[in-house]
Amino acid sequence: MFDIEYLDIPPLARAAGTVRLPGSKSISNRVLLLAALSQGQTTVHDLLASDDTAVMLAALRQLGCTVMQDGTTAVIDGLAGRLVQTQARLFMGNAGTAMRPLTAALALLGGDFELSGVARMHERPIGDLVDALRQLGCSIDYLGNEGFPPLRLRPGLGALNLKAPIQVQGDVSSQFLTALLMALPLVARHDIQIEVVGELISRPYIEITLNLLKRFGIHVQRQGWQRFTIPAGSQYQSPGDIHVEGDASSASYFIALGAIAESAEGRNGIEILGVGDASIQGDIRFVEAARMMGAQIDSTPNSLRISRGQSGKGWPLKAIDLDCNHIPDAAMTLAVMALYADGTSTLRNIASWRVKETDRIAAMACELRKLGATVEEGVDYLQITPPIHRKDWKAAAIHTYDDHRMAMCFSLAVFNPAQLPIRIFDPKCVAKTFPDYFETLFSVAETDTANIPVICIDGPTASGKGTLAALVARRLGYHFVDSGAMYRLSAFAAARAGVALDDAEGVARIARALPVRFQDDRIFLGGEDVSADIRTEEAGMAASKVSAHSQVRSALIALQHSFRKLPGLVADGRDMGTVIFPDAALKIYLTASARHRAERRHKQLISKGIPSTIAAIQQDLEARDARDMSRPVAPLKPADDARLLDNSELSIEKSTDLVIDWWQDARPF
Ligand code: C5P
Repeated sequence: MFDIEYLDIPPLARAAGTVRLPGSKSISNRVLLLAALSQGQTTVHDLLASDDTAVMLAALRQLGCTVMQDGTTAVIDGLAGRLVQTQARLFMGNAGTAMRPLTAALALLGGDFELSGVARMHERPIGDLVDALRQLGCSIDYLGNEGFPPLRLRPGLGALNLKAPIQVQGDVSSQFLTALLMALPLVARHDIQIEVVGELISRPYIEITLNLLKRFGIHVQRQGWQRFTIPAGSQYQSPGDIHVEGDASSASYFIALGAIAESAEGRNGIEILGVGDASIQGDIRFVEAARMMGAQIDSTPNSLRISRGQSGKGWPLKAIDLDCNHIPDAAMTLAVMALYADGTSTLRNIASWRVKETDRIAAMACELRKLGATVEEGVDYLQITPPIHRKDWKAAAIHTYDDHRMAMCFSLAVFNPAQLPIRIFDPKCVAKTFPDYFETLFSVAETDTANIPVICIDGPTASGKGTLAALVARRLGYHFVDSGAMYRLSAFAAARAGVALDDAEGVARIARALPVRFQDDRIFLGGEDVSADIRTEEAGMAASKVSAHSQVRSALIALQHSFRKLPGLVADGRDMGTVIFPDAALKIYLTASARHRAERRHKQLISKGIPSTIAAIQQDLEARDARDMSRPVAPLKPADDARLLDNSELSIEKSTDLVIDWWQDARPF
């Protein structure tokens, strides 16, 4: 999970492999609410674990529903249409799929509730739903601006007025109709009719609602898209077990990936598991749009395989002019695919974008222009002309407006022909629907190793390299490698195996086959956690001895190189900049006076209860440095192009800020 200020993604070249998608947000949140309202226990499989489902689960628990969760499985004891708690303040985050249906259900069930969310939620309209509920006699007040959350619900004064058809506006958000369809079965003592006023947008989402209602025992009758009837006596009944499909909107990023990235050597594009042509989600029709643009897609009921078209036949992508009303969320992905098309693409009938997580039309236009595209923005359309020549592309720092889809869409711009990196601000916003999005992308995307940025931090013993390197890696979301640990491990494993430290070939043999695993800040040797054993002063001295053998150094090269993975690496050691990653984009030579280093190490040892004196430590440090600097192979010295950083008088925070500033200077953003 990239909980960082920004994520820099290097230019990518190819992609291939299999991805399993997280569960659909729309299905997950509907199923959770329906299970909670039902009679009986429901086991939900493959549930999406994300910000929006967490919001729904927390609200259901507050209302007295028992939910047991184990990873992607949730077991819910239904409330059989009766609330245990009739008073609560519920926080809905930015989850429209929780806010709208819960408002309707709680208003009809009666009680004293306050529903609020993040600032953006308070700008997302709910007036049409409130108007519909007020017609029935529900008591709802706006606590902020008229027409928007936060809301206060109170018990209604008299009986609900369910005789006349209930009118609801259909042209701002289909979630209002969904909310009524899910709530009204709770009070269906006789037939209840809903009439949609105005053109109903996002119909596929209504189909999901109707489909799931049926699974929970409610058979809504529909006349066109204007009139819906909930039959008298409808009652929620748990289906027992229910499986959530993979999210079809999330699939759009990997469909696009398969359509724009060349397949890796000898492999056959991208395979997506968990969603296919039997999907009940409207966004599955993104497949048709992607095919129109040139993507080669094969499907089964619950999987998809995508590859890029041949040159001149599907590649570059074909520009499209498409009414996107049927795929409002996935259509954002088309806007980014349009960057790789052979002309101007127009996405029409997308007015609903303006009231989503952000004003998506404005946001998309603004960020696409940063990449060099020419964009015309209309009230309900977007027209995109890609950068004409390679040189017209720009390395852009993309703002994501707390909108998961903006972050996921723009990550696909890293396949630009100019091979420019892209910066994505606030990458963790993907947690709304796809917490592991970037990890999944990096698991199937490839680039030339030289494109993967490396920052090297070399320096003498106890200069604080390890701490600094780990902090820089965390700030940037990069991998981290502590190369000293590999020498320590080699010496440790050799001693265990009874191999003398001066037996260069013997230690090298062990180093070549180290059964090592790095996990967070722990190091495992053949399954045993040896982190503490290799951190002692003796282990450091032993490491320094074995590290002087050229055979041992060669034996560890491949292991060190294997850490150079997307999106980047911070490496700490003695020869990272000089020998292992000579092409690193930033090299730091970190040092501090011997006195300062001895004092720091002394403090560390004392805090661990290990007795020592500063003078003895300083002597040891100097001996180790002298050996590391004077050995003939890969001696410790600053690389010619290294920046020197003396941190004798600097706090670790200051040093980290300085390195990040230097890194920033080397970036094109
Ligand atoms: O950095 P650390 O103190 O863990 O390193 C232990 C020893 O491993 C160093 O004293 C040095 O001799 C050796 N080493 C090396 N090259 C590296 C990292 C460590 O020779 N890249």
